[in-house]
Amino acid sequence: MTKKVKKRCAVIGDGIAANTFIFYLLSRTSDIKVTQFFNESLFPQSSLKSTAIVANRNTPFGVSEYGDLLNKSFIELESFYLKNSAKFLEEIEVIDHIDYGNGVDYHRKYPNARKSKYGFEFAEKAYIFYPHEFLKKLRELNNNERIKQAITEYKQLSEYDFIVDCSGHYMKFFNHYVDSQITSGSYLCADFDFDHSFSITMHRCNLIYRKKYKQLIIGSSTGHDFMEQKEFRHLKACYKTLGEYDFQLPSFNEFELVRSYRHKMLKRLPVWKEFKKNKYINGGYFRNGYQFSFLAGKELSEMIIGKL
Ligand SMILES: Cc1cc2nc3c(=O)[nH]c(=O)nc-3n(C[C@H](O)[C@H](O)[C@H](O)COP(=O)(O)OP(=O)(O)OC[C@H]3O[C@@H](n4cnc5c(N)ncnc54)[C@H](O)[C@@H]3O)c2cc1C
Repeated sequence: MTKKVKKRCAVIGDGIAANTFIFYLLSRTSDIKVTQFFNESLFPQSSLKSTAIVANRNTPFGVSEYGDLLNKSFIELESFYLKNSAKFLEEIEVIDHIDYGNGVDYHRKYPNARKSKYGFEFAEKAYIFYPHEFLKKLRELNNNERIKQAITEYKQLSEYDFIVDCSGHYMKFFNHYVDSQITSGSYLCADFDFDHSFSITMHRCNLIYRKKYKQLIIGSSTGHDFMEQKEFRHLKACYKTLGEYDFQLPSFNEFELVRSYRHKMLKRLPVWKEFKKNKYINGGYFRNGYQFSFLAGKELSEMIIGKL
């Protein structure tokens, strides 16, 4: 009997896109060998600078392609969590996200919001990821070959049967097939002591507390360039708004400004597809990497398994 030779898949990236995809692929088949390429000293991940919170924000189905993708991705994240929560007890927390607000747009978004001392409130389930720990756990579970190497062109990987490019906002560095934009993302972060994690949107200003990191976060915000005054002003205005609603915050100068980049494709739509024979891209997650990566991982792994 001849032994079946395993197909080989090269994955570029070591962020949420790459590691979640590999988790789905290797959970579903052992007929493929994965080698991962990355270089954090040259190309640091956005995934570690992320506030990494996922709430569906009452997004309706059937209104836009973007909304539908967010919904489908949230459902896939729930299914992932249902199957795997025991493996990620320290890496993911499930909490209630509360959105406080008022006005026409708020009520259109949350028709069932309840009256509250801050206007109206709407509570829904949210997932807080601890980025370092979550990625570390995925790597341990995936247990695939990992090579620290900068890739400058796909030709370097010509010995592999499949290439999956999860290089995030660096994609343009060597991929000339995708039309994407790089925007910035930032938040304010300070040490704080509180007894539980929470996530609040207070009249469009986000306040997050990650208990495990003892971190209080204001934001994040998005800008076109790295870093616009507008983006900074938004965070400062949020600090002021939250103070006006009686939140006891550290002084403004105690906050650190955390900045990174976001990868934006056409109409903010993420892309996971085969763009050339056996070459795939998986990216454009923009503000929702910890939400989209699960649906992307599921669908992309199905595409590749279908070819084995
Ligand atoms: C401030 C901020 C807050 C955010 N908050 C949230 C949030 O609350 N919820 C949410 O869901 N999303 C959030 N996001 C978005 C989310 O963090 C990103 O969408 C996600 O991290 C992108 O992941 P990625 O794996 O595509 O890219 P990255 O994490 O950037 O990973 C890219 C990988 O590719 C490797 N690489 C790149 N080029 C090369 C090369 N040439 N050779 C070898 N390796 C290469 C890099 O080393 C890296 O490992 C936020 C983003 C920012 C910036």
